Amino acid sequence: MDTGIVWFRRDLRLQDNPALDAALRSHERVACVYIHAPDEETPWQPGAASVWWLHHSLTALADALQTRGARLHVFAGKSSTMLHRAIVATKARAIYWNRLYEPAIVERDKRIERDLAKRGIDVTIGNAALLFEPWVPKTKAGGPFKVFTPFWRNVREQLRPQPPLPAPRKIPSMRIKGSIRIDDLKLLPNIGWDAAFHKHWTPGERGAQRRLASFLARGLKDYRKGRDHPAERSTSSLSPHLHFGEIGPRQIAWRLHTNHSVNAASFLRELGWRDFSHHLLFHFPETTNRNLNRKFDKFVWSRRNEKILRRWQRSKTGIPIVDAGMRQLWTTGWMHNRVRMLVASFLTKNLRQHWLEGARWFWDTLVDADLANNTQGWQWTAGTGADAAPYFRIFNPVTQGKRFDPDGVYVKRWVPELKRVPKKLIHSPWLDPEVLKRSNYPAPMIDLAESRASALDAFQKMRIESR
Ligand code: FAD
Repeated sequence: MDTGIVWFRRDLRLQDNPALDAALRSHERVACVYIHAPDEETPWQPGAASVWWLHHSLTALADALQTRGARLHVFAGKSSTMLHRAIVATKARAIYWNRLYEPAIVERDKRIERDLAKRGIDVTIGNAALLFEPWVPKTKAGGPFKVFTPFWRNVREQLRPQPPLPAPRKIPSMRIKGSIRIDDLKLLPNIGWDAAFHKHWTPGERGAQRRLASFLARGLKDYRKGRDHPAERSTSSLSPHLHFGEIGPRQIAWRLHTNHSVNAASFLRELGWRDFSHHLLFHFPETTNRNLNRKFDKFVWSRRNEKILRRWQRSKTGIPIVDAGMRQLWTTGWMHNRVRMLVASFLTKNLRQHWLEGARWFWDTLVDADLANNTQGWQWTAGTGADAAPYFRIFNPVTQGKRFDPDGVYVKRWVPELKRVPKKLIHSPWLDPEVLKRSNYPAPMIDLAESRASALDAFQKMRIESR
């Protein structure tokens, strides 16, 4: 019987999966394969929170395949070697996968594709992750965009949402010997730090669909305004599901296509930011480790300071909204977008630590850690990246707190030591030393006004030097 191999990667779903769909259309049976090869993603091997998610997402996919009569064959080792084994075992003449965009993976996939072609194996590659492949949006001159607004205008003009490909009811499949158990990959942490993750998340395609349904029923109607208020649950929390491809942005765009509200438009625009990050990563792959705006190569960051970094990581900065965000991150593996910007601005501008220090910490602790979005988020906030976020715009965590968490609900949820602090002091408890003492909460690790002035000074020097 004719067999095709489906190589699952970060497209861990059955619905709207172009690779799976194409394989099932062309072959009498398919062999479903997952290969664990984190070394091939160096220097950005998946972090601890991310592999926690992966474990559960693979388990959910294996269960879903099983109910359709198929098996997820799990291997660990070099991708090319494992694929070769699968080809020999199945006598397959064709392989199907969906594209990823991280620079190390792009290079690996190109190599594998070339080798397979040499051996006469057909390769079919689909797009399960983005609204558009990153090379589709083009400036008038034919190049990549560096600014979001024209990028998004270009994407909007081309976007014609289509009904998603249905999930197959039955998957005629074959077995390959030598597959290992998901448990054998040892993806779960053994220190119990993930204890609260289960309360917040249900990895897998069903969890993603449920999350989308509940967001569409409740969060969306106030999304445009609510999305900036971290105490409210107005955003979708779909980011880890999107990262692992348990749901794709095209499926979401289809669900929104008859909704002409400002809220739906605003939500779709955020998915646009996700495509934009991948567009930047694809065209400027070096930016995972280097400034997109090369003028910043001359900027003088403070020397890496372990003590400073630890206070930021362990939520002991003495700035309530920053500490609240860092605790939300540690406890749930996720942080609200507005607060991500505040903690990132505080680290890169007030503490003047390099944005890569923050990016690395996020990488290890976020369940939605995503090289495109994380790089873009850090570079944007640090002012070294694309778009109009100049360095001199330094977020003030006190005024931002007052504006977006006016009653301190978010702060008190994550920093319960501050529960009794009166509303007017909740974002600046140090203004009353008595209040601070009673709360058993640290004083700010740095003076906000002074550190802001000193960062602006360093920025001015860089500007003069790069003239
Ligand atoms: P929603 O508001 O419901 O948005 C829907 C989806 O749109 C999100 O799930 C996400 O996929 C996408 N999206 C939303 N905002 C952005 C954005 N600014 N840039 C790109 N895509 C966006 N997002 C990640 O997925 N992984 C990361 O590693 C990551 N790191 C970040 C680091 C920093 C410093 C900053 C400022 C932002 C980062 N973001 C990252 C972007 C954003 O904070 C999250 O995508 C968002 O908070 C996820 O919550 P949500 O699913 O409820 O978002």
